[in-house]
Amino acid sequence: MTAASIREARRRLEALQTQVQQQREAALRAAGETGDGSLHDVEWPVAMVPRHRARLRRLAARRKRAFLGRVRALVAAVRRSTADEDERTVDAPAELDETATRVVIATCSACRGSCCGNGGNHAFLRTRTLREFMAAHPALDDNAVVAAYAAWLPENTLQPGCVYQGGQGCTLPRAMRSAICNAYLCGGLRRALLVANHDTRGVFVAHREGERVSGGRLRVLPVLSHG
Ligand code: SF4
Ligand code: SF4
Repeated sequence: MTAASIREARRRLEALQTQVQQQREAALRAAGETGDGSLHDVEWPVAMVPRHRARLRRLAARRKRAFLGRVRALVAAVRRSTADEDERTVDAPAELDETATRVVIATCSACRGSCCGNGGNHAFLRTRTLREFMAAHPALDDNAVVAAYAAWLPENTLQPGCVYQGGQGCTLPRAMRSAICNAYLCGGLRRALLVANHDTRGVFVAHREGERVSGGRLRVLPVLSHG
């Protein structure tokens, strides 16, 4: 990339950001939020993220077979290798505080899991994922490990998408997901998290499609249950 093309890309991004800020202010006015505009960045940060355009469909038997075949192969690979042979590209993420968790839920649900759309029939599982699960459940034999992963497959998934991508988000418990699934935050979400703090009330989620923003909405932060 040349310096000129980087400048041009930056200029386009700034133009897009200005457009989104204007949309946020208009949405806040429409919602009767006429408070101090200088606080809007913190109270209603912008998250410019994609939107996963996928439909909920029955998870095909052929996809299940392909996925469970992969899990079985990973289990076999764990049995014949050691942990220091595992790929270690992602470290455990820092814990998100309560506000950050609420921002993530509000934003990712509006996006409908665009990044999970790449999970296909593999769900990003690695030997490391299976090794950790098997170490935590030493009584399970190979078939029982595969059955444990099979048990969390939903009947219907977003397609295109990951085998675990149900209508309400991921159906696989966090402890069984790959490190990348537990760590990944896209750039638009990370920028929103940088400015969010305990005064944050919601997020203005704008959906980016290439060079365009296809619209946005105010999303009030959800209340977390601690039960
Ligand atoms: S991390 Fe970004 S791309 Fe992934 S679901 Fe959340 S908002 Fe969407
Ligand atoms: S396992 Fe869950 S978090 Fe990971 S890609 Fe699939 S749906 Fe997304």
